[in-house]
Amino acid sequence: MSMNNVGRPTRPEAANEEAEGFTSLSGGRGLLQDEPLIFELGGWKKTGVDLPDAVPADSALAGLTRDDAIGLPGLSEPEAVRHYVRLSQKNHAIDLALYPLGSCTMKHNPRLNEKVARLPGLSDIHPLQPQSTVQGAIELMDRLAHWLKTLTGMPAVALSPKAGAHGELCGLLAIRAAHEAAGNGHRKTVLAPTSAHGTNPATAAFCGYTVVEIAQTDDGRVDLADLEAKLGDHVAAIMVTNPNTCGLFERDVVEIARLTHAAGAYFYCDGANFNAIVGRVRPGDLGVDAMHINLHKTFSTPHGGGGPGAGPVVLSEALAPFAPTPWVVHDDGGYRLVEEAEGVAAQAFGRMSAFHGQMGMYVRAYAYMLSHGADGLRQVAEDAVLNANYVKARLSDLMSPAFPEGPCMHEALFDDAWLEGTGVTTLDFAKAMIDEGFHPMTMYFPLVVHGAMLIEPTETESKAELDRFVDALRLLAQAAEAGEVARFKNAPHLAPLKRLDETLAARKPKLKWKPVAPAPLAAE
Ligand SMILES: *Cc1c(COP(=O)(O)O)cnc(C)c1O
Repeated sequence: MSMNNVGRPTRPEAANEEAEGFTSLSGGRGLLQDEPLIFELGGWKKTGVDLPDAVPADSALAGLTRDDAIGLPGLSEPEAVRHYVRLSQKNHAIDLALYPLGSCTMKHNPRLNEKVARLPGLSDIHPLQPQSTVQGAIELMDRLAHWLKTLTGMPAVALSPKAGAHGELCGLLAIRAAHEAAGNGHRKTVLAPTSAHGTNPATAAFCGYTVVEIAQTDDGRVDLADLEAKLGDHVAAIMVTNPNTCGLFERDVVEIARLTHAAGAYFYCDGANFNAIVGRVRPGDLGVDAMHINLHKTFSTPHGGGGPGAGPVVLSEALAPFAPTPWVVHDDGGYRLVEEAEGVAAQAFGRMSAFHGQMGMYVRAYAYMLSHGADGLRQVAEDAVLNANYVKARLSDLMSPAFPEGPCMHEALFDDAWLEGTGVTTLDFAKAMIDEGFHPMTMYFPLVVHGAMLIEPTETESKAELDRFVDALRLLAQAAEAGEVARFKNAPHLAPLKRLDETLAARKPKLKWKPVAPAPLAAE
């Protein structure tokens, strides 16, 4: 077993190596080296750069100037590059295979978007540049805003939120400002269904609201009777995801909006699943007052470890006056950002970020929209739904769909009823997928479905790719039913890291590397 320099095993379960019948001498494996932490690579006494000594200068920091080492490893460029490339080879990426995470929409990121986002006129600009020198970039923001408003049928959009959760915060702050302006600041409750993504109740609580759950019907939708019973003069808003996190369209969504408005509350729609309906349904027509759009889900863009996201929020007529600055206006003088909370922006609730948001994401999303066109975006939604239904249909004889009745939208949801008596759990099954070459689906979410397995193939997978995926899952399902428990219990057997003790990792996370003496010297 290889140990790192603080005496911990570099692999959680080195014993599994033996089970495979062959162990390398060094801990390396098939051209992959056993990778230590960058701090453990032993670069303390050297540095990767060769700079002349700094000329002593007067410091405005008085006695606060640092005079000890900053504690960064001093690797050469090839050592640093190899470290990160070796780490990346141990990881999964959408560019390696399909990424079936439900709710997260991991679709292919077209290279065209990346190329356009790197054009110097869009990438080498600074947010503090005079606006007259970045007219093209501001025009792009204006055009993106136009597409988002058109696709959603909503009159206003705040582009600046930097993620879906940040968009939720923006939407709820606009709702709070609207209530306060109308003398309804006493409305302190937000309703959200039991199946809601965790960010919904978290956002509401962060805004100072009390969250009350709305029950769900047996077929996975909002329980209208329960909603009606819980609405009242104390409710500021409801937060409903559509299509919801069970992958189902809320077929009573118009009635949900009507009941909400009749009670004087606003309808916040979590639009993370907009990719299932884009080009087919305009949320504005359904009675939505505010909705974030995860540009990094619906309109591509690398996300997760791959880069930042963006969560623009479309707003209804009632909420538009409270939209945060900045936004783009266009007149004879060209394009301009409204930055100050005065004039047309007098009621703006504030701003969501220091500047205007994630420019690189705007470019990628706009490139994605233009390259698909209106008809292409509609087909995105249709193909995403078709692919999910294909997966559901091909697995339903072996695995148990959580909602067998009728088609699903963009994601196929299974529960663990079919695993009963096999000794295999959802976690075991998901980990065994890694051995078969596939990233696991989303597990144990939504919480309303026991042992949930949520699969979102997205529109970018071909039938051949889906078949490869489904065939592997079918083999695993048959193995589980045949009682091959050992295959599952310690899975993954073939990954660089074995099964972690996830409870321990969550309860006692080791977030900080602690140097062992001697203290680092280099890289001052
Ligand atoms: C992804 C997601 C969010 C949060 O979006 P982030 O961009 O990750 O902050 C919220 N709700 C649902 C349903 C999601 O899938």
